[in-house]
Amino acid sequence: MSSSRETPAMQQYYRFKRQHPGCVLLFRMGDFYETFDEDAVSISRALGLTLTKRSEGLPMAGVPYHQLENYLRRLVQQGFRVAVADQLQDPKEAKGIIDRGVTRVVTPGTLVDDALLDGDAANTLAAVAFLESGDNSHAGIAFVEASTGDFVVTDCPADQIADELARRSVGEIIYAALADGRIPPRVDRIIRQLGLSATARPAWQFRSDESLIQLTSHFGVSTLAGYGLSETDPAIPAAGAALFYLKETQAGEVDEGKNNANAGRDVAGFIGPAGQGRSPAEAAAKTAAAAAGGTSRGRAEEHRLKARRLALAHLRPPRREDTSGRCVIDAVSLRSLEVERTIRGGGPKPASSNAAGDGTLVGLFLGAGSQCCRTPMGRRLLREWLCQPLGRLEAILARQSAVAVFVEDRILSENLRASLDNVQDVARITGRIALGRATPRDICALGKSLASIDLLIDLTTSTPALTVQHAAITSARSALEPLAMAIVESCKDDPPAHMREGGLFKDGFDAELDEARRLQTDAGSWLAEYQQKLVEKFDLPGLKVGYNKIFGYFIELPAAQARRAPDELTRKQTLKNAERYTTPELRDFENKVLTAETRAVEREKALFDELCTRALGVIRELSTFGQAVAELDALQGLAERAVRRGWTRPEILPEPVLRIHGGRHPVLEELLGTTFVPNDVELGSSQTEAGASPAALALITGPNMAGKSTFIRQVALITLLAHVGSYVPADRATIGLVDRIFTRIGADDALHSGQSTFMVEMTETANILNHVTGKSLVILDEIGRGTSTLDGLSLAWSIAEFLAGEADEAAEATSGGPRALFATHYHELTQLEERFAGRVKNLHVAVREWPSATDPGHSEIIFLHRILPGRTDQSYGIHVARLAGLPRPVIDRAREVLSSLAVHQNAAVSGAPQTSATPGPEAAASIPAPRGRRARQPDQFSLFTEYLSHPAIDQLREIKIEALSPMQAFDELRRIKGLTER
Ligand code: ADP
Repeated sequence: MSSSRETPAMQQYYRFKRQHPGCVLLFRMGDFYETFDEDAVSISRALGLTLTKRSEGLPMAGVPYHQLENYLRRLVQQGFRVAVADQLQDPKEAKGIIDRGVTRVVTPGTLVDDALLDGDAANTLAAVAFLESGDNSHAGIAFVEASTGDFVVTDCPADQIADELARRSVGEIIYAALADGRIPPRVDRIIRQLGLSATARPAWQFRSDESLIQLTSHFGVSTLAGYGLSETDPAIPAAGAALFYLKETQAGEVDEGKNNANAGRDVAGFIGPAGQGRSPAEAAAKTAAAAAGGTSRGRAEEHRLKARRLALAHLRPPRREDTSGRCVIDAVSLRSLEVERTIRGGGPKPASSNAAGDGTLVGLFLGAGSQCCRTPMGRRLLREWLCQPLGRLEAILARQSAVAVFVEDRILSENLRASLDNVQDVARITGRIALGRATPRDICALGKSLASIDLLIDLTTSTPALTVQHAAITSARSALEPLAMAIVESCKDDPPAHMREGGLFKDGFDAELDEARRLQTDAGSWLAEYQQKLVEKFDLPGLKVGYNKIFGYFIELPAAQARRAPDELTRKQTLKNAERYTTPELRDFENKVLTAETRAVEREKALFDELCTRALGVIRELSTFGQAVAELDALQGLAERAVRRGWTRPEILPEPVLRIHGGRHPVLEELLGTTFVPNDVELGSSQTEAGASPAALALITGPNMAGKSTFIRQVALITLLAHVGSYVPADRATIGLVDRIFTRIGADDALHSGQSTFMVEMTETANILNHVTGKSLVILDEIGRGTSTLDGLSLAWSIAEFLAGEADEAAEATSGGPRALFATHYHELTQLEERFAGRVKNLHVAVREWPSATDPGHSEIIFLHRILPGRTDQSYGIHVARLAGLPRPVIDRAREVLSSLAVHQNAAVSGAPQTSATPGPEAAASIPAPRGRRARQPDQFSLFTEYLSHPAIDQLREIKIEALSPMQAFDELRRIKGLTER
């Protein structure tokens, strides 16, 4: 190893590198954060930095310390995990090597700085702890939002883990490392499916006993029972692991002794060197020293203060989520319905500026052009609501009533919006204060936000539907108002971006600060005043106070008056015609002036810390206020959308019913305006309609591009919105409670790389059929498309039958069944309406046809996008192909083939599921040869003959009846029948 790698600083560097495997390490040296070795090579490439060489060829690249946040943002966006090592002492005070420590680790799931975060979406860390080995193990999951301190735990069966993660803006998942360093296959599957960033952690951190100790000691309790978690709660290992990780990333705490003790077991874990162990409290205090800077004044106090902050004071105790109170939408359905991201688009993107946003349901509410919510907290909460609809009637009705208040009282709504405009991201500001990373702008924003308290209380008074929010803000008022007052009174309106040069506090607020500032700006007048004072006191008219660079401040008397110099003046220097003196007061002044700038900044930092400490003292109330504001904002945001597009309040019933009149697709409606064609649907039965039992399964047929997918998606989205407590895009809607919304719409190959489209289609369908209940809503689009026509039709048929059959059984038991909409181009399925009379009904999309002026003998069509009862028996595929611009000869030839096949189809024996789409070989054989070409051999149409190839049929063909005796004929018949039964 070259000697440049062996300097004490580099040894420190390599120690941190070992402690934070997988991270780029930014190592503070003077005014730069430096990187070395491969880190230097990779970040110089990623950030376009110059790659230099330290002595002896060690690659090195650095970023200026004051631009750290900017570079961090760019690194995190490019998928790097970054550990930041700071100087823990003033270099001037260091004897030998400067003490350094990793003060934070920036990872995709633990971001807290404003510059690194999207204000409109949560950024959640998920810890997944499997309870047993094996692919089917149940798992405990903890979700923590480092920026706001929100901490939720849950547990679920293996097949629902991805669904749980998909619903909540997860930025990173952590899991227990395997001894050999591989990613456990069950974790690998999830991260591939969802495209998540994942981090291995030492397995011991997922142990129940370790986690319990970590959690109870952090929250200062002897048991977690108060939070609804027993000692054996399956979510505890995940919750503990999440806390370990947060402490390490946010507070630079590495429990090295423990990691070392476990080094043998967890190869992929974070392994520290022997003898470096320190307690979390010590580590926090050390880290605090880094943040405290290097002055000696009040340092111990500052350390204590910051150590407390670094202990994640904003982290709320884990809250167990009650999954039974939700309407579940799995990961596939969330994606098919384009709730948060479009099927073709990648991950969630900032919604575009048009009113329809980015084509997603969330974008419709949160897109820059929609202006539904006024605060980032409201936007994040509304996103959460849209991804996690409610399942309980009372909860839905309560939210609906609150939305109704804002829909009906537009003045209240406008006033609320105006006061919310003054409220900033209190939740994340509070988080940054708790982590010691607040800026002066954060504090001022907090002060301004809290100034809205009275107005918010006034606006929500005497509105029963807003009692919860009103009570919450009222309960926090007495604790928050003094803080608001202190901030507003002490801080300037235009705060600086950081505390490096001060400039946050108003003049006249603090005597010490005023003096320091005055000394900087006003040294001249102080000196003049002082001179005047001395002249009068000693009656020495020739006395002058002056300054030069070499001697500093002095009092000068002409030689003639020097005799009368009082004892108070200490001689400093003798000149030819004068004597120079000083006094303790002047020395003091000199000292003060020379250090005035530093003292002003130091004083401001101390005052800033005082304000932050005050805020920490009311952290619970701050979070209560933030939550109430988020709720008010999300509620009025739902109302805003309803008012803008004339949505209506749906009636919600416990019975499995679904009646929508004049329903629209919320996103398409925004794009198409009044040209969007509304549609109706009626499914399921309601006890209120005695005797009436509308079908539970609707089969929708119609040509491609007619609007089938749009229709079935709009039904699902309206149902989803109704469960969110929102108004819905319909003239009237009655929605019975739904336990799950299942959708299967198109396959997404990119997401499921490695599986065929058909496999994906069947896996997703299997999931639906295995979990559907009498209270579910099922939306299926074009099942069976990914395989041969006959296979596809057979599967589509049996799946539809299954759903209809399910409905029958469920109908007896629960007076209802799964409500299902099945869009298909297999017209044969429409026969199910007769077979399951009352349970299945046919719908079709209307098409208008008229003789073509340009294409004699053929017709023009337009899709009316209107859904009507009954079946359609035309697919209009060739029309669609013509609209799509297929060459004329191809279209003409297709028509020719079609009409020939149709003749045979009409002659075919009907019977289900034997089919009109499966003409026999004779049909193919009868297709006329293309004009102007040599006739094709019939076997070129094997596409049509393959369906009938079966050994029994082949052997039947071979039989020469005339050559058989009656007995032989009987035996042959029995043998062939046997073939059909295999
Ligand atoms: P299908 O599933 O039958 O192939 P889609 O639902 O994908 O058809 O609809 C095709 C296009 O038709 C949509 O992109 C949309 O532009 C338009 N469309 C669908 N439904 C409507 C409607 N109700 N009103 C107006 N346009 C519609």
